Amino acid sequence: MAPVQRRIKINDRRGAASETDLLARLAGAPERGEFSLVYQRQVAPDGVTLVGVETLLRWDCPTKGAMAPEMFIPLAERHHAIAPITRWVLDRAMAETAEFENLQVGFNASAVEFTDPAFVSEISALIAARRFDPSRLEIEVTETAILADAEVVHRNMDGLHALGVRIALDDFGAGYSSLNHLRLFPFDTLKIDKAFVDECSHSPQSAALINAVVGLGKALGMKVVAEGVEIEQQLTFLRLAGVDALQGYLFGKAIPAERLKYALEQPAQRLR
Ligand code: C2E
Ligand code: CA
Ligand code: CA
Repeated sequence: MAPVQRRIKINDRRGAASETDLLARLAGAPERGEFSLVYQRQVAPDGVTLVGVETLLRWDCPTKGAMAPEMFIPLAERHHAIAPITRWVLDRAMAETAEFENLQVGFNASAVEFTDPAFVSEISALIAARRFDPSRLEIEVTETAILADAEVVHRNMDGLHALGVRIALDDFGAGYSSLNHLRLFPFDTLKIDKAFVDECSHSPQSAALINAVVGLGKALGMKVVAEGVEIEQQLTFLRLAGVDALQGYLFGKAIPAERLKYALEQPAQRLR
């Protein structure tokens, strides 16, 4: 027994050391030019008309190579180091998409940020500095920590709305989802998680759930977006279900702003 325990302890220490190391590298990543942004298109139910983009962060770590966001975003969240990342993403996304007038730009924030009383003023200052049209922005958040301090969360959501920024509930249906959150918090958009979309064209249960979620979202006055659409049958089903917009590899993977510019020049991808 004893040797096993010792081995676990050593591994734990190594794990903690590499986490600290990664966190330190992450903190300096923007200054070293290791962060970049890509944009995934959202299209209307016709499958071609561009209605907006979601901004996704990429980190090219010199020692570990390209790191998936899932490898470093949760780490930053755990160590309260997410706010500078969100600010960097928003600022850069505004700079890179400024020229694409009327294009809706979504970006991700962490639920914990919605419990920070300084959140809205920081976002507001960034938008003002770029003179960006706030009605073009949509902030995406998952419900994980949203009830941690419901009063502050609500105040922040009202503050974002007062600025003119829209708010989307991300990954709806993945893991823990509560209908009560839809009633309690003023979301503008509901993003149906890929897990439901994956099954919708062949599972009657998933199909029924999507129909119910679309109906619910619409009844509450929300825009409904389906994520992770990969095949034509899913598009056909989701169009009939009445979603307002779709996103997924069927319409393209996330691309850098230069390529987005090119895509926007193509007649089939014109803005609505
Ligand atoms: P998300 O917000 O749900 O973003 C969608 C993810 O699904 C993206 O992965 C995207 O590339 C992927 N995806 C989109 N369409 C399809 C599809 O049809 N099939 C499949 N298999 N995948 C698809 P990505 O870029 O690796 O991001 C993963 C997650 O990392 C995001 O999930 C989001 O939670 C987080 N993330 C990314 N960028 C940021 C950021 O700037 N800030 C924060 N806080 N989180 C971020
Ligand atoms: Ca998202
Ligand atoms: Ca999502």
